[in-house]
Amino acid sequence: MYDIIILGAGPAGLTAGLYAGRSKLKTLIIEKNIPGGQIATTAFVDNYPGSIEDATGMGLSDRMYEQAKEYCEFLTTEVTSVELKGKVKKVHTEDGKTLEAKVIIISTGASHRKLEVPGEKEFLNMGVSYCATCDGPFYSGLDIFVVGGGDSALEEAIYLTKFGKSVTIIHRRDEFRASQLVVDKAKANEKIKFELDSVVTEIKGDKETSSLIVENVKTGEKKELKSDDNSPIGVFIFVGYIPQTEMFKDQVEMNYGYIVTDSDMKTNIEGVFAIGDNREKSVRQMVNAAGDGCIAAVIANRYLEGQVW
Ligand code: NAP
Repeated sequence: MYDIIILGAGPAGLTAGLYAGRSKLKTLIIEKNIPGGQIATTAFVDNYPGSIEDATGMGLSDRMYEQAKEYCEFLTTEVTSVELKGKVKKVHTEDGKTLEAKVIIISTGASHRKLEVPGEKEFLNMGVSYCATCDGPFYSGLDIFVVGGGDSALEEAIYLTKFGKSVTIIHRRDEFRASQLVVDKAKANEKIKFELDSVVTEIKGDKETSSLIVENVKTGEKKELKSDDNSPIGVFIFVGYIPQTEMFKDQVEMNYGYIVTDSDMKTNIEGVFAIGDNREKSVRQMVNAAGDGCIAAVIANRYLEGQVW
């Protein structure tokens, strides 16, 4: 029996693990992929306090993982279902295990939103990617197209200029959701071009991606974007995230798929907390994901001592 099982090893889960483990609580973190969550595949994290040297997402998440590992157990597997009600919570995994804990902290994060256009699935890893850090180097010297207008799209577009001959940002409006600082940086970059008020309607190619069909949402005009010399192209899609909360939907209170918590990260179920990008809140940044993790672990400790709920 664990005191706490944490579902997900992004910045929120790793911070919760660090705090729980340092409070001498028997803590297990379960993660189906590599630790770090979205950060692990983010090029640079410039806005996490103290993240100056080796500010790569991978570097930072590795250090968070190494630190948490000092204090809690890790298990790499996929959780298939959970039983959250009652004093003893149960976690069932794909390899047939059932693990028990007094507290569950849900930090399953969010997954990449898809464009849902023809060619997106077919050319995944053959020109279509959701991770610049992972796949950017494959497109060295080629034309790259980035879809989206948020911080992710613009920051990753800037990063991709290290590799691409050109980087074209395709965005459905003519204003950006990204912060002004990042917009200005992208606009000042000579390699970056913009295709605004435009949506991608199809991704085309043979064995590799060779072109995109975009439609101007104001004029309805369609055109094909490709390289001048018919080389393969890279298409990087950054159009937001979807909370990974499907598994909890009949047990925990949610709003549009995001788990509802109070300011102590408590859900409507006793002994169950939610932290990070899967909970309802207005700002989703790494720094407040880590803050959520700290709060949940501290309050969980108080709960286990019989002080709160
Ligand atoms: P986001 O802020 O939700 O932006 C998603 C972008 O994709 C928006 O520009 C949106 O257009 C566009 N979009 C959504 N669905 C689309 C579709 N079906 N077709 C075409 N375009 C579509 O997502 P994000 O950029 O991944 O950022 C998520 C959160 O992480 C944000 O809070 C962001 O600030 C934060 N973040 C921070 C940093 C950093 O500070 N270092 C880096 C990355 C992300 P509209 O604008 O028209 O809705």
